[in-house]
Amino acid sequence: MKEQIEKIRKDFPILGTQVNKKPLVYFDNAATTQKPQIVIDTITEYYSKYNANIHRGIHFLSNFATDATEKARETAQKFINADSIEEIIFTSGTTEAINLVAFSFGETFIKKNDEIIVSEMEHHSNIVPWQMLCERKGAILRVIPFNDLGELELEKLHGLINSKTKIIAITQVSNALGTINPIKEIIKIAHKANVPVLIDGAQAVQHIKVDVKELDCDFYVFSGHKLYGPTGTGILYGKKEILEKMAPYKGGGEMIAKVSFEKTTYNSLPFKFEAGTPNYIDSIALAKAIEYITDLGLDNIYKYETELLEYATKELKKINRLKIIGEAKHKSSVISFIIDGVHPSDAGTLLDQMGIAIRTGTHCAEPVMQHFGIGGTIRASFAFYNTFDEIDSFVKSLNYIIPLLK
Ligand code: PLP
Repeated sequence: MKEQIEKIRKDFPILGTQVNKKPLVYFDNAATTQKPQIVIDTITEYYSKYNANIHRGIHFLSNFATDATEKARETAQKFINADSIEEIIFTSGTTEAINLVAFSFGETFIKKNDEIIVSEMEHHSNIVPWQMLCERKGAILRVIPFNDLGELELEKLHGLINSKTKIIAITQVSNALGTINPIKEIIKIAHKANVPVLIDGAQAVQHIKVDVKELDCDFYVFSGHKLYGPTGTGILYGKKEILEKMAPYKGGGEMIAKVSFEKTTYNSLPFKFEAGTPNYIDSIALAKAIEYITDLGLDNIYKYETELLEYATKELKKINRLKIIGEAKHKSSVISFIIDGVHPSDAGTLLDQMGIAIRTGTHCAEPVMQHFGIGGTIRASFAFYNTFDEIDSFVKSLNYIIPLLK
């Protein structure tokens, strides 16, 4: 991958731009990734040549766009190795997918005093929908803690699961710490107690090969925009037998079989969960992003990004007063850190002056910050188009700004 890097970078037009008269160093990939030309071109091409509302159309354009959308669904199905396209639901992203499950699974399966388990390192979007469900139903939220390295205290999970536990919702990779969680083990433990598991893959699918059949997870969710695809796209995978039992989420066109004022019946999967005109052109472009990274090879991506992570960790550790937050043994290419005496947003503002885009703050994971008793971190997150030279320039810039901010 290292050898191909210049060629790969040319596929992403934004990487050639300048920010504050400096070449852009984009280290905010955990927030969103940049888009390859093929994704940008697909959106333009479909709006220029093939746009018409999908499904039930009898004219050429509608049929063309429908076929492309359903092919995109197949691409997503193969990408995560789901059994069938009925198990692949287009959503606007991870947040919507989790809200869908929290609502629909909740309506069908959760009652007063039932319990739901999440972890202490979840993104707000894998906490708040479950809290809202608990408020609606009088259910209880339980939390798997993590230790100061940022690793889940898995032995505590056994004590949390009981006959009232109805679902576990857990992230595969923490966006604030970079920790890769042992989800296969968690799923095994949960299934022994007949508890289904939702995996938040928002920070995982773009870095690690995911096989939902091998994992045996019950739900898997991810966002298109973190996977080099367009914003407003995402996938909910769910096991067919559970999705079939779940109540619909939103009502409207396409999700119905028959409507009358006396009684409405619902469409089959996956359409039961896709009310209204979907974001079909962006979903078609998402499939192009999936094909793009599949061609690069997720194993190659993982290997290269791990090299970037290890190099950056080693170099950052040389900086005085800098402390890395999240030192789990298994990590993805996210580094959060604090610098003694320096406010993260001041550091972010000065780095921006040097053309370096990083993120500062709580990263929508306030419980993680509460664990460490800090207000926020500086977070650099890498993608396969980043380089070792960019890390050098980041470290050099940090060494320059820290004395200024003392
Ligand atoms: N889960 C994790 C782990 C995330 O990192 C994010 C976004 O940063 C989300 C969920 C929410 O994703 P989205 O805003 O694309 O719905």
